[in-house]
Amino acid sequence: MSLSASEIGAAMKDYASQNPCTWCDGCGNYGIWGATKLALVELGLKPWQVLLCYDVGCHGNGSDKTGGYRFHGLHGRVLPLSAGASLANPTVPVIAFGGDGASFSEGVGHLVHAVRSNYQMTFVLHNNANYGLTTGQASALTWQGQPMNSSPNGIPEETLNSMDFIFSLAPTFVARGFSGNIPQLTEILKAAIRHRGFAYVDVLQACPTYNKFATHEWLLEHCYDAAAEGHDPKNFEKARKLAVDTSKRVATGILYQTEEQPAFHERLKPRQGVKTTPVEEVKIVDVSGFLKKFV
Ligand code: SF4
Repeated sequence: MSLSASEIGAAMKDYASQNPCTWCDGCGNYGIWGATKLALVELGLKPWQVLLCYDVGCHGNGSDKTGGYRFHGLHGRVLPLSAGASLANPTVPVIAFGGDGASFSEGVGHLVHAVRSNYQMTFVLHNNANYGLTTGQASALTWQGQPMNSSPNGIPEETLNSMDFIFSLAPTFVARGFSGNIPQLTEILKAAIRHRGFAYVDVLQACPTYNKFATHEWLLEHCYDAAAEGHDPKNFEKARKLAVDTSKRVATGILYQTEEQPAFHERLKPRQGVKTTPVEEVKIVDVSGFLKKFV
């Protein structure tokens, strides 16, 4: 759909909240927040037509700064609660937001099964390579040799190669954006929301307070649009190589997508041919008769 600038501005107000922002100046969360609202508005989605789910972290405070249906879950647990909501009503777009800390440590098991299950939802990784909310501890994605508050001499472990890990799970949609490129991120998010199945969107996010290596300036200098260089997102092996190799430059955009795999709910045999959603089939059942057995 094509909206004028004034129509977009008016629709963006639907997502406004009275709560003040508490993010640091220059935080990449602002860019991701703006791109998300813009994507929803440009898709013609009103706040009551979408569910936004937040993990714990700096980004999670976005749940207070946005209008509409929101759910703020426990640390590392945003994916199961979002998947449950999506399974209850797969017609409602569900977007889950999580940080690299929670997603690749506390919640990594959920991430594995969300990707391989191909749930009908979008996952936005706020990837600032540290635990910002708890003051700059290293995460599994912190670079080698970077002093962090929890490891002033650099991390003793290997850094997890998150893209190689995601590609090993047979994903159906993998994209990478950058919090400083809002127009590109908006287009990525629109495609992710429309995708059939689980859309994984890794957003490299500036955290000027604690991340002194992948700064906004570094990302500006190193990120490039893969589509502009002829990348074909249907080629799994090339997409994987492009996603994993960040040694000189960082490819952004939709890196891989296939819609040939059905989403999880489409593969459930008892649901095939059923016109209603599970949430429409909820009934009030009087269980007092059963309970008498235990009195
Ligand atoms: Fe943003 Fe980092 Fe500040 Fe958190 S600590 S609000 S991620 S700049």
